[in-house]
Amino acid sequence: MTETVFTQARLPDGQLVDITVREGRIAAIETAGASPVAGGVDLGGALVVPGFVEGHIHLDTSFYGDAWVPHRPCTNGFDVQERVTFQAENMAKAAPMAERAANQLDLCIAKGSTSMRSHVMVDGSVGLASLETILAVREAYRDRIDIQLVAFPQSGILKSPGTPELLDAAIGLGADLVGGLDPGSFDRDVTAHLNVVFGTAEKHGVDIDIHLHDAGTLGAFTIEEICARTVALGMQGHVAVSHAYGLGDLPPDAARKIADLIALSGVAIMTNAPGTHNFPPVALLRHAGVTVFSGSDNIRDSWWPYGDGDMLRRAEIIGYRSGFYRDDELAAAFDVVTSAGAKALRLEGYGLAVGARADFVTLEAEHVPQAVVAVPPNRRVFKGGRLVAENGKVLR
Ligand SMILES: [Zn+2]
Repeated sequence: MTETVFTQARLPDGQLVDITVREGRIAAIETAGASPVAGGVDLGGALVVPGFVEGHIHLDTSFYGDAWVPHRPCTNGFDVQERVTFQAENMAKAAPMAERAANQLDLCIAKGSTSMRSHVMVDGSVGLASLETILAVREAYRDRIDIQLVAFPQSGILKSPGTPELLDAAIGLGADLVGGLDPGSFDRDVTAHLNVVFGTAEKHGVDIDIHLHDAGTLGAFTIEEICARTVALGMQGHVAVSHAYGLGDLPPDAARKIADLIALSGVAIMTNAPGTHNFPPVALLRHAGVTVFSGSDNIRDSWWPYGDGDMLRRAEIIGYRSGFYRDDELAAAFDVVTSAGAKALRLEGYGLAVGARADFVTLEAEHVPQAVVAVPPNRRVFKGGRLVAENGKVLR
């Protein structure tokens, strides 16, 4: 039986403890020095937090580690269809996908992510080829990070012939969730689009994570439709809407009303608080009981050049853009990238508790609120109690 005791760990509540890890799980948490320890790992009073949850990323389309690709703006304002076209042109010239995905995974693991949800293109243009590649990469990284894969119809479902069948096949191949993309503005038929998404999920018993960039009332209408289907199928807790920009466009009364509906429906909302978009009101949603989680989304890809794979920095960005100043607000931003993310992804055994999986990160910070604003760089990342990254480098 493998057992390691991590001594002098400071928990988010300030307690100094020794953490015993057995077979990859936390077996005991005791006041530091309460029991004699021989040959433990001294964490030196560092703040210990659960591994970050990277809840939305695209492992197949990033150029991270490859040649720099200058951003091409849309010709007439943000246009998803035009961005998809640019992406196809860029991908044709990119380094092999497995290499780029591994670069991005190393980046995320080094920053402290121990669980991840990645969307992978599945549509008429790429078929199942991207998914096959990323499934192999996932296997190669299984000891360092847990990865959920979403079959993502980047070219639409109705507009890209054969996509409903491909989504079905993708789940059979190993994708964990079925995705969707702007049922209204992209496919121009909310009902038919959601019939495929929810039909595939129901057939295979898998969860759903839908990209929804649509603004204002179209976005809100689509969310209402998603909530209604979620409840009708008893899928509360199994459905997420990513981006949901439209929630950021609504007046407060309308936002509160739909927030109550989203909470009742158990639909999670993913936001990465992107620079130029209105984005969901994080505090209002959390207050209503909605699970809000986050992710890097795009890193060095055809959509934008930003991103460093650091979910702690993402918490800072969410807090900064949300106007969070108080300690409880900063802690809320941290919760979005940790516990709320684990809830949205339905991660088993998450957190710093006896019985939980020993996935944790050490931070040189006083406490969580300070970590969110300081984003300290020197971290140690443990997966199942094993050191997988230190000082920004993944260990091999
Ligand atoms: Zn995305």
